[in-house]
Amino acid sequence: MIGQGTWPVPDRDALRRGIELGMTHIDTAEMYGNGRSEEIVGEAIAPYPRESLFLVSKVLPSNATRAGVARACERTLRRMRVDYLDCYLIHWRGDGDLVATMRGLEDLVRDGKTRSLGVSNFDPWDLREAAAALERESIACNQVLYNLGQRTPETHELPWAHEHGAAFVAYTPLGRPKNAPGARVLAEIAGARGVTPEAVALAFLVRDPSSFAIPKANTLAHVEANAAAGDLELSAAELSAIDAAYPARERIGPLPMN
Ligand code: NAP
Repeated sequence: MIGQGTWPVPDRDALRRGIELGMTHIDTAEMYGNGRSEEIVGEAIAPYPRESLFLVSKVLPSNATRAGVARACERTLRRMRVDYLDCYLIHWRGDGDLVATMRGLEDLVRDGKTRSLGVSNFDPWDLREAAAALERESIACNQVLYNLGQRTPETHELPWAHEHGAAFVAYTPLGRPKNAPGARVLAEIAGARGVTPEAVALAFLVRDPSSFAIPKANTLAHVEANAAAGDLELSAAELSAIDAAYPARERIGPLPMN
């Protein structure tokens, strides 16, 4: 449930420490560092069996024509030095032809270049259109901005994921408002559980079985703190204290993006 982000560029040794601690879900994108992030992921994962990892990358909307998706994926695979991805996403919707993009992603599943396909920064309307464009596959995940300061996906994108058996992936999961009472609640739970407030925040975000989070950490202590969230099951009382301290608000306007 807790993976590793890699934006704008990750640290090879931090990624390896994360993998050793079980954070084998690694999220990257051709955009990050103009391909450099994918290259560092490639170096980091080299010692590990490919099947022990869950590798995700994303195509830029500007490359997301039917043929462009295939070319972008080939470049990504070369940079990461792997034969296939576990999930390949369109990074955000953009102005391109969504039907062509989704069919291009389906071609890549058929050709064994990725085991599944997904989207990022899609609201339920975009999701409906993207799903309707698919002929054989279904949307495996939607990656969105979700953290203690931005909980509106809980009432929009998370229900879509439930209805369609998709994963709901939180990016920028460590973002939260500077809120002194909230910080106190996290610190108290963290102290009682022997983890950091960030681990408590992550455990809250993945409390739903469809949810995943991909914190990025270049600092080893941060990697270790984030990995601890994977084993942390918060009690109902702890969940409701966090819910009260960082309340979900109604969305005004479009799905926020980072
Ligand atoms: P984030 O993971 O919420 O925060 C990263 C920052 O938090 C870094 O400064 C990191 O510092 C620090 N940090 C990490 N673990 C910590 C801990 N345990 N305690 C205290 N500080 C900690 O934000 P993000 O990088 O924006 O998002 C995560 C990943 O989501 C990205 O790396 C990327 O893969 C993905 N993403 C996707 C999209 C999209 O449009 N799909 C957009 C944004 C991000 P150090 O590095 O120094 O450890």
